[in-house]
Amino acid sequence: MASLRISTINKKLLNQTLTLNGWVRTRRGSKGISFIQLYDGSNQDGIQAVADQELENYAEISKLTTGASVSIRGRLVESPAKGQAFEIQAEEVKIIGTSSGEQYPLQKKGHTLEFLREIAHLRPRTNTLGAVFRIRNTLSWAIHSFFQERNFLYVQTPIITANDAEGAGEMFHVTALELESLPRNAQGKVDYEKDFFGTDVSLTVSGQLGAEVFALAFTDVYTFGPTFRAENSNTSRHLAEFWMIEPEMAFTDLQQMLVLTEEFLKYVIGVCLERHEEELLFLQKMYEPDLLETLKHIHQTQFETLSYTEAIDILQKSGESFEYPVKWGVDLQSEHERFLTEKHLKKPINLIDYPTEIKAFYMKQNTDGKTVAAMDVLFPRLGEIVGGSQREDALEALSDRMKQHGLQQEKYDWYLDLRRFGSVPHSGFGLGFERLVQFVTGMKNIRDVIPFPRVPGNAKF
Ligand code: ATP
Ligand code: MN
Repeated sequence: MASLRISTINKKLLNQTLTLNGWVRTRRGSKGISFIQLYDGSNQDGIQAVADQELENYAEISKLTTGASVSIRGRLVESPAKGQAFEIQAEEVKIIGTSSGEQYPLQKKGHTLEFLREIAHLRPRTNTLGAVFRIRNTLSWAIHSFFQERNFLYVQTPIITANDAEGAGEMFHVTALELESLPRNAQGKVDYEKDFFGTDVSLTVSGQLGAEVFALAFTDVYTFGPTFRAENSNTSRHLAEFWMIEPEMAFTDLQQMLVLTEEFLKYVIGVCLERHEEELLFLQKMYEPDLLETLKHIHQTQFETLSYTEAIDILQKSGESFEYPVKWGVDLQSEHERFLTEKHLKKPINLIDYPTEIKAFYMKQNTDGKTVAAMDVLFPRLGEIVGGSQREDALEALSDRMKQHGLQQEKYDWYLDLRRFGSVPHSGFGLGFERLVQFVTGMKNIRDVIPFPRVPGNAKF
């Protein structure tokens, strides 16, 4: 019989003979019986197989250690043991690959997350990373599903680019030049005309500008791809390589986007609540005592919209002593964001209309002349989870803003064309995928929710 995945086992299969492939999580022996906890990555706990000494290779079975790979054939029966519905009465245990006992770095005892990062090639087999990556997989599916159900076009924007969409200059250069002998131009600068693309290029920090091009042809689009930032931020929320979801919607203003963003966040969280109770209960027990409560709260609560100006007022009157002082015009820090969402309103917040000075060049100028139609969605525990805006769709206003930001107009002429030919109000946001995974799993460090984290000083694996 073909092998089955453990997660698909159900009552209907009782008393049938099944074949299961997987790895030994643990094995303990007692009076001529071995209890093997078998895991194939498809569910949180795996399943117990019971092998007794009647089996012809029992001598080998009784020496199985954590990490060995096996194929087990046996009958599915109700389990007498507590905490598990079924177990397998093994009729055959084929040993496929042994695991050299003591040397296997993942022993039964719990390991710290820091240690697991050093063995990132083996940590996917742990129950923590198992839970995280099954949830990550579901979130990624749910994101596509949400947008596809609403007729959004999935567009893949380039990874190598000559644009700095955020204008922050924190980019990784890409070159095919010989670094040991760089060609120089008359001014003594590196001569990028001799480089592969004839100009200097980098890894993208955002797919937004390309997404705007497509939104003005397909109305509703989204990107979901890797982005790169050479920011030297050694924090638990920053990676040098991370994935970003960027929807972009034509004929959509800020208010309409707020509605969609709330629906989107509730949808993807709702799917996880529905499908991953086991994983969430495990992560709650291990890492974040309020995990399920917070997720359910967000799923059920109507988000509150607040302007930046109102938020500053609330913060100033709060009587809290913040590390970073608050006054109109400053960028909000995560301590401010968390105060607003965790203590003051106790719900998710759409914070809108930020001062022009602290936001990117492409955001729509409001009529007050001081603020732009930006929005950040603030979540408890995290602060900002989503950042977005209505885009400046007026040619002259955009061109002025680009001049103020010192952007070379020639380089962005194609972007200005979108405002010359059939310009429409349009809006979009960016959501860091790993920040979302972090929020849903309750993991404290972003390095534990991506397969192989790229951070300052480390690109191992
Ligand atoms: P932060 O202030 O946290 O550095 P940002 O303002 O630089 O974020 P944006 O430029 O608005 O972030 O990027 C959009 C989204 O991408 C953010 O809301 C966040 O979810 C995510 N993000 C940004 N930088 C990183 C990073 N280095 N690692 C992981 N996710 C990131
Ligand atoms: Mn940043």
